[in-house]
Amino acid sequence: MKKINSHKPMDAPEYFDCTCTDCGHVIRYIYDPQGNEIFTEIQLVSSGFWSRVKYAFKYIFKLNCKYGAWDCTILNNEDVPRLIKLLEKVEKNEVSDRPN
Ligand SMILES: [Zn+2]
Repeated sequence: MKKINSHKPMDAPEYFDCTCTDCGHVIRYIYDPQGNEIFTEIQLVSSGFWSRVKYAFKYIFKLNCKYGAWDCTILNNEDVPRLIKLLEKVEKNEVSDRPN
């Protein structure tokens, strides 16, 4: 009996460092060929208890920013071709029955 396994495993994660080298700004992308999607993951910075309480208080009452809490990652120029290569995987593997 022939085993049918059409599930494609997810690619190895791609990590992109920020130009400031802060490990809290690292972005991780994982390409899923099954759904032709890229998962974007960003690490949440861990800090001390009272710092988190203070942050939570500000978050609850929207004292940081009315749009929520934001941080940024500045992509290194030498990582641009690697990111383009990752995005091209999605472009080349267009899934026609994908919900929009
Ligand atoms: Zn940074």
